[in-house]
Amino acid sequence: MKEENKSRCIKCHYPNLEEIFTFCPNCGYPVNSNYCSDDNCEMNDPDDPVAFPETDCFCNYCGSETKYFKDGLIQPQKYD
Ligand SMILES: [Zn+2]
Ligand SMILES: [Zn+2]
Repeated sequence: MKEENKSRCIKCHYPNLEEIFTFCPNCGYPVNSNYCSDDNCEMNDPDDPVAFPETDCFCNYCGSETKYFKDGLIQPQKYD
């Protein structure tokens, strides 16, 4: 079976986001937009901003909150 490149919306959990989508067609939340919340961070290069994995709560470069964490969409995990 061929693996489909679909993912869920971080906000509304809409299950059929396609790779080419910029916004969720259900709730309008920007897809793959877990950026550092500090506009001056190196990770937010205006030409090529880096989006963190959707589970990352803090920027691994400057330690600021990520956008998803700031919007209350994710929480830090507990690891054993
Ligand atoms: Zn959505
Ligand atoms: Zn940062």
